[in-house]
Amino acid sequence: MNLTPTGLVVMPLGVVSAATALFVMAVDAAEDIRIVAPGTLMIAAVLLYAALLFYLGRSGIANVRKLEARAITDPLTRLPNRHALHEDIQLHSQANDEVALAIIDLDSFKQVNDHYGHAVGDQLIETCAAMIREACGDEALCYRLGGDEFAAMMTGKVAGTILEGMCRTLLARMAAPVAVGERHVTVGASIGLTRSTAEMRIPSSEMLRRADVAMSMSKRGGKMRCTWFNESFDRRRERVREIEDEIRSGITADEFTVAYQPLVDAESSRIVAVEALLRWDRGERAPLGPNVFIPVAEDCGLINPLGLWVLRRAVTDAMRWGDVALSVNISAAQLRNPEFPIKLGEVLEETGFPAHRLELEVTETCLVLDPVVAERTLDVIRLFGVRIALDDFGTGYASIGFLRRFRFEKLKLDRSLVELAGVDDASRAMMLSSIALARALNMGVTAEGVETPEQAELVRLAGCDQIQGWLYYRAMPAHEIDRLIAKQASDDDAAANPPVRREGGNAA
Ligand code: C2E
Ligand code: MG
Ligand code: MG
Repeated sequence: MNLTPTGLVVMPLGVVSAATALFVMAVDAAEDIRIVAPGTLMIAAVLLYAALLFYLGRSGIANVRKLEARAITDPLTRLPNRHALHEDIQLHSQANDEVALAIIDLDSFKQVNDHYGHAVGDQLIETCAAMIREACGDEALCYRLGGDEFAAMMTGKVAGTILEGMCRTLLARMAAPVAVGERHVTVGASIGLTRSTAEMRIPSSEMLRRADVAMSMSKRGGKMRCTWFNESFDRRRERVREIEDEIRSGITADEFTVAYQPLVDAESSRIVAVEALLRWDRGERAPLGPNVFIPVAEDCGLINPLGLWVLRRAVTDAMRWGDVALSVNISAAQLRNPEFPIKLGEVLEETGFPAHRLELEVTETCLVLDPVVAERTLDVIRLFGVRIALDDFGTGYASIGFLRRFRFEKLKLDRSLVELAGVDDASRAMMLSSIALARALNMGVTAEGVETPEQAELVRLAGCDQIQGWLYYRAMPAHEIDRLIAKQASDDDAAANPPVRREGGNAA
């Protein structure tokens, strides 16, 4: 039987009309033929009519029930859906118990779906639903809210604490690869938690919003974690929205500039490269560093126009700096943008900047989020002759496989690693092995954030070929780099053409 709402209504109505027509015909026939026992036919018709109505009534109710169930059930996982969750929260909020809610968002579902197709994506959703169901056991109710978002709800005196424990168990389980068909994928999840108590009841829609905000904080904090909602998150979101508006108007008002930090050769201390670093001239307003405003620009997509502007500005400035290499930082959102390699090609063509002098710095997080797309984009970029450096190495979990896969031309050791290597043996061992590994894979190595002569000596002896840090230079405006490069060129000239000394006389 067709269970769509229209089918359900149309079909019983059709059958009822047919039965009614039959009943009317029977009455007419009984009257027309004036048979001996017209009452018998009438009674038979009435009974048939009644039986039909009874049957239709029962099957109609069953169908309505099915429809209702369908309205609150997710068809793929058979878990109750968002609508059911709202109803359950409202129902349980009437009792005196605590109501705790967790929103569970899968971390890498989109990539699995994009790379392996929707059938595999669906299988993964079913597998994850089973894992969540198992983690919830009989104590919590679980739901699929749509896409790769699930929820778990629990009521009771210490519901929040128990639910958090369950979520942590679930995360531990999700850290391991799961079998999906013939593949093994690690999907991971980010979880947001919130609760409503008898003293402070929160409407279901607000509970969902809070758990969702907390979940996005888990994502922002590095994924694979649980975060409890906190009122300050709302204030933070408000501030983020303000910064977003300010970035937008700052772009129009030309408030952004690019500063350049020189990188020196570890042996000769000559400037061999500069890194372009974005700066925001906010006038009277409180200053904001790139560590604050770039993540905001990344989240709202403004990093695309902003990052492209940095690239164009930097290659235009660096045209004046001889053979000094130029490094430009590239965000994950830029790397994911299919337009990026095209725009890069346009910038190189319009400015005539030699591609071999350009190096793009990417971070590990930028690549692990979507390695397949990242690899493809990096391959296109390399076709131009542009080199790729892995920035902030030592802050993440880059494996040997990861380094081999992406074949970076350069590894930049993060400041934290350089700093710790100076004081602790384990970090020093890690730094030395990272350098050895990079060398074995034919990568150049730069030490970042070198602030003391001891650190410089350590990284030089360890085999770094370039050094960047305040010990040598801080980031500075382009016109100061002009001056430094000009001085370096004249020093080189002077060294190549030493003044001719007249025998027995003074220098000419
Ligand atoms: P990064 O790419 O790792 O850049 C190096 C950061 O370390 C810069 O901070 C630099 O000023 C700082 N630094 C260099 N030497 C030293 C040192 O000896 N001591 C200390 N304490 N710090 C040192 P900055 O300019 O604040 O930039 C922070 C981060 O913002 C950059 O880290 C990069 O990830 C990001 N960023 C900056 N400009 C851009 C950009 O144009 N695009 C993108 N996507 N990200 C950018
Ligand atoms: Mg960098
Ligand atoms: Mg760095």
